[in-house]
Amino acid sequence: MLVCLVATCPKCMGFLEDGHRCPRGVFSRLGEALVTVVIGGGIGTALCYAFEEHPVAPLVLAAAALGAVLAMAVRQATSGRV
Ligand SMILES: [Zn+2]
Repeated sequence: MLVCLVATCPKCMGFLEDGHRCPRGVFSRLGEALVTVVIGGGIGTALCYAFEEHPVAPLVLAAAALGAVLAMAVRQATSGRV
């Protein structure tokens, strides 16, 4: 799964790179949103390939976009506030 390959910081949910530092404030929230979108898109893409062996590009893009939107909705619902 794509999700397992993406290492994220447990504190700021940002991508763990060399010399990673936890951002604060708006950058932290932007990072969270970005990670959520990327993970949602990855899940959508993976599901697309799970159902269709050779999906066409527009279908993959639509699935990725849908996954990203759903992930954002779930994150907003679970976090309580945006
Ligand atoms: Zn961090």
